[in-house]
Order: sequence, then structure tokens, then C-alpha cells
Amino acid sequence: METHYLKGKTVGSRSKLLEDVKQHLCTCAEGLKLTPDMEAFLEMPMRELYVSLPVHMDDGSIKVFRGFRVQYNEALGPTKGGVRFHPEDTMETTRALAALMTWKCALHKLPLGGAKGGVICNPKELSHREIERLSRAYIRGIYQIIGPDRDIPAPDVYTNPQVMAWMMDEYSKLTGKNVFGAITGKPTSLGGSAGRYDATARGGLCTVREAAKKFGINLKTSRVAVHGFGNVGYHAAYLAKKMFGCKVVAVSDSKGAIFSADGLDPEDVSGHKHSTGSVLNYPGAKTLTNKELLELDVEILIPASLENVITKENAGKVKARILAEMANGPTTVEGEAILNSKGVHIIPDILCNGGGVIVSYFEMVQNYSGMQWEEDDVRSRLERKMKEAYDSVYNFASKNNVTMRQAAYSLAVGRVVEAMQLRGWI
Ligand code: NAD
Repeated sequence: METHYLKGKTVGSRSKLLEDVKQHLCTCAEGLKLTPDMEAFLEMPMRELYVSLPVHMDDGSIKVFRGFRVQYNEALGPTKGGVRFHPEDTMETTRALAALMTWKCALHKLPLGGAKGGVICNPKELSHREIERLSRAYIRGIYQIIGPDRDIPAPDVYTNPQVMAWMMDEYSKLTGKNVFGAITGKPTSLGGSAGRYDATARGGLCTVREAAKKFGINLKTSRVAVHGFGNVGYHAAYLAKKMFGCKVVAVSDSKGAIFSADGLDPEDVSGHKHSTGSVLNYPGAKTLTNKELLELDVEILIPASLENVITKENAGKVKARILAEMANGPTTVEGEAILNSKGVHIIPDILCNGGGVIVSYFEMVQNYSGMQWEEDDVRSRLERKMKEAYDSVYNFASKNNVTMRQAAYSLAVGRVVEAMQLRGWI
């Protein structure tokens, strides 16, 4: 167990997500005939950095924040992964998320390795300018190990295109030239890609559509519940209604959930959240707890908040037929075993939420070439890649009689191992 200290308080702790990600690797190791040495290498990141970030606060004080960057495996190319600003972030969670990025990029056949970053902070308690200074301080802390050919940060929980713009600007200042390709998820006016804003949700919904076809589920009459109404969750709710005509019966945020049997209007709920700070008290909707939302009678459940929300405690009560994991690590190993025994079709995170990094990769390609693709072009390329990945995982799972997650890990880890062998690392 790893702990570290900030102002005398223990802020790091054992990460269930990290244990589970290692467990998934272990489960596919036998089928891939990994030697113990290979497995040991893949169980740990190649590089980790802890940074201390002194930031001038608006009141004149200086506050020191703790940040991390983990470069998990770069066999397939420069590493890539989001930066999370969260009060409960830890190095261990960042390590697990960096491992997930490695398998995700490999699964979607991107020429990229996996990384992740984080800063322990509560952006809700920081001013706009304090967030800017923190974002710049983070880049100053990690700039020696990042860059378009080394490691490319992107947005994650509680970071957004504005934060990416500051990060890109800071990196450019430090290197003395405009390096748009150093960061992805930027605003489109600064080298960002059209279609990045909803790419994770759109990509995830492509996999839902493929799954619905396989299982004869009519999406027009399907009810959807979304846990976590942030960037990914909002777009998932909006697009499920717009693209498929689904009825979005419930959404939630960190304060609670709302439900309407007649269906919610995600755009209107988003307006309400922006003006009041929460989805709660949306006119005409019933208030539920986040726990109740996960147990609703729906066809499609979309976890889009944080990790470990479906566990052995509540998995038995999940009624959905399709679980589309748009968040990273929303289902624990024990929770998944229960869902599998009930026949819930799980679209695993590294497959379902790959749309974000796919369009981030498109953004890098556009930055390299100086081109700007049309949104339709981005979308059709994204759809093709998501469908291809879904089909390959589904076919592998059917052929080898394994779960969708085991299939996804087997394909992804196998590609990373092949790259390491070809490079002569192992
Ligand atoms: P976000 O910060 O925009 O949204 C997170 C949402 O989760 C917020 O609405 C927040 O209120 C809610 N939330 C937080 N704690 C909660 C709790 N305990 N219960 C219910 N809701 C809670 O973040 P995001 O970018 O939408 O990311 C969401 C998930 O998707 C994360 O797991 C992230 O790693 C994953 N993901 C994001 C992207 C991307 O492109 N942004 C790509 C792949 C995966």
C-alpha cells in the first residue's frame, strides 16, 4: 500500500481500480502465454513523476498542490492520457488509469502508448485565474517528460478545453515555439479537432448501437439512465435521445439524481445544471439517490462519472440489459462477475470510451499536417474505428467463449506484447 503526505494528512490510499486492472491483465495472461517476467513488466508503469506545484492564490497566499504523471507503456508510440483535477486523486488511481489508456490505445489500433496525469485539488473551490495558474504550474512541473513525440496530455474529470489551451500555451512558452500537438482536447480555434467535445459519448453510443443490433434491442423504445452528467454523460444523454430516439429517464451528478418516467430533455437539464450548479430540483423530475439510479428498470445503463460505482453490493440489483462503460473502471471485478451471471452485456471501458482518445489522435494528426478536418469527416472516421473495435472484441469473445472484457484485454495486451517483442525489449 502506498501513502504520501500533504500538510500531515494521508492523501494516497490503496486503489481498488489498480487492483482490478491488474486482475484483468492477469486473467488474459494465460491465454496470451505471457511469461512471469512479461507480466511483471506490464503490471508496472515504465515511468512516474510526482510534482509539487506552488500556486499564487487570489488572496496573496501560496498554496502547494501535489500532481502526478504516469507514462505506463510506450511500446506502441508516444504515451497519451488525460489530466484529472480532483480532490481525491492519488498516484495509484493515476497509475491504473494510465494502464487503461495503454490497453485502450492498443485495442483501438492507435500508434500510441498510455499515460495519465492528475492534480489533487478541488476546482470548484478555485477561481478561474487560480485554475489557470495551477494548469500552467502542472505543465512546468512535467514539461521535461512530455511533448508531441513523447507524451501528450488531454482533458479528463474536471479539466476542459480552456485548461488544455493554457497547458498548450505554457508548453509553447517553455519550448520557445507554438507546439499545438503537445496537448489535445484544445478549443478548435487553437488547433483542437472538430468533434472532440462529444467524441467519447458518440463513440460509446456507436458500440451501444452495435450491441443493440446483436441482441435485438430496439433503441427507439429503450430507456437510458446516465450516472454522471459531465462532459461524457451529458453528451451521451443528448446523443442517445437525438441519434436513436431513446428515452433518457434519469441522470445524476455528485449531488444526486433526477428521474422522469416520460423522459428528460438533456439540453434543458444541462441549462438547469449550469444555472443552479446541479441537476437536482429540475422542474417536473423526481429526486433519486445515485444508488437508486443504478438500480432503475432501464435497457441501457451508462456509468459516466468515476470508478467503482457498480460493485458486489449493488450489481445484483442492476436491471439494465446493456452496461455501456463510458467512465473508466466503473465496475469492480466482483460486480462484473454478478452482472455476467445475470447476462448483462458489458461494453468494457477500454472499448466503450475509446472515442475520446481516437479523436485526440485525429487532433494530433491534424496538428502534424496543419490540416483541419470537417466535423462530418471526424465523425465518420470515428464511427468506423468504433465499429471495427466492437466487432473485433465481440467476435473474439464469441470464438473463445470469454467475456467482452477478457476479449478486449487479450486483443490489447497482445498488441503491446508484440510491439515490445519486435522492439527487442522482451
Ligand atoms: P466531468 O468532470 O466532465 O464529469 C464528471 C461528472 O461526474 C460530473 O457531472 C460530476 O458531478 C459527476 N460525479 C462526480 N462524482 C460523482 C458521484 N460520486 N456520483 C455521481 N456523479 C458524480 O468528467 P468527464 O470528462 O465527463 O469524465 C467522466 C468519466 O469518463 C471519467 O471516468 C473519465 O475518466 C472518463 N472518460 C472521459 C473522457 C473524456 O473525453 N472526457 C474520455 C474517456 C473516459
